[in-house]
Amino acid sequence: MVAEATLSPDVLSRYEAVVGLEVHCQLLTQSKIFAADANAYGAEPNTNISVITLGYPGTLPKLNRKAVEFAIRIGLACGSEITRHNVFARKNYFYPDLPKGYQLSQDKGPICVGGGVLVKAKDPITGQSYQTIIQLHHIHLEEDAGKSIHDGDEWATQSSVTRLDYNRAGTPLIEMVTEPCIRTADEAGQYLTEVRRLVRYLDICDGNMEEGSLRCDVNVSIRPKGATNLGTKVEVKNLNSIRNVMRAVDSEFLRQVELTESGGRIVQETRTFDAATGLSYAMREKETMNDYRYFPDPDLTPVVISDAWLADVQDRMPVLPATLYQKFTTIYGLPDYDAALLTDAKELAEYYEAVCTHTTNYKAASNWIMGR
Ligand code: ADP
Ligand code: MG
Repeated sequence: MVAEATLSPDVLSRYEAVVGLEVHCQLLTQSKIFAADANAYGAEPNTNISVITLGYPGTLPKLNRKAVEFAIRIGLACGSEITRHNVFARKNYFYPDLPKGYQLSQDKGPICVGGGVLVKAKDPITGQSYQTIIQLHHIHLEEDAGKSIHDGDEWATQSSVTRLDYNRAGTPLIEMVTEPCIRTADEAGQYLTEVRRLVRYLDICDGNMEEGSLRCDVNVSIRPKGATNLGTKVEVKNLNSIRNVMRAVDSEFLRQVELTESGGRIVQETRTFDAATGLSYAMREKETMNDYRYFPDPDLTPVVISDAWLADVQDRMPVLPATLYQKFTTIYGLPDYDAALLTDAKELAEYYEAVCTHTTNYKAASNWIMGR
């Protein structure tokens, strides 16, 4: 039986959830971010690897230009400021799935700063719809790690073994970090839905949460309604669907309220979500920044995004869902419902527009496509 956290109007009138999301998107480049090995999901383990990906001594990384362009695209789509001078740092830690012993990431000076994503959400008490902008703190580029496959997974035939598949190591990622400005599970779900739609429109990520090409960590704290300071945050990981992200927000909100009201103290920690029970479990207390010994990677030159390069990426930007939605509701006069459905996927929107080149009966065309 799956337990769902239900938030009573009483709890909602006394406490407010404060949520920030960290979303990782695997970029759809053909090769890895610093090497020529294929960036492909589902291949035989350890076939898409190279000496660079495995961090052999004496090898040198080279930055994939496409990965930079993809990050610029999402930044432009979100109205972020694009950083022109980009440096990658080594984030040092030991883990079996990290063959180099460090992850290359943008520690300081992320490629996109600020910006936001417009979402429509519903008030959990009144049910009223409203629009809000989920503010982005930044978007940065980094490389993915390999994958540990523990026993019980299909590839591990013996028990008590962990196997390592380095195919994923070096896959380009963008990490989109929001401000702690999300207030409800619905806002979190709507934001993720919009991000997934955006990256698909932009052709930079397939947005598949089950396969892990889009991943989301949820940071939650609570505060008394009306307070403006931030409480101690807890990070929840292992969320493989938008629905589970929403469940995790509510269940963590409720856990913190109950803990606080019973006289307990919230500790800053990382928890893992169990989709079967709808509850989260403590994984580890949060490590501090200094442990990673960040320093600029000496093997990579800084990337400078020239005016010409930026203008070129801007010129090649695909049409965005918000623009199409605007067009469908004004020029074609469609109701919000139709426009929202038809702009959900780019292919469908393009098909509708193609149909509209043959008729001016736009509403009938919409009905026909939606099968009504
Ligand atoms: P860390 O260094 O622990 O990763 P960051 O400051 O980078 O923390 O924030 C990570 C995410 O957590 C961001 O999305 C941010 O909005 C969110 N966050 C930060 N503080 C809080 C808080 N008190 N409550 C909820 N979310 C928070
Ligand atoms: Mg973080």
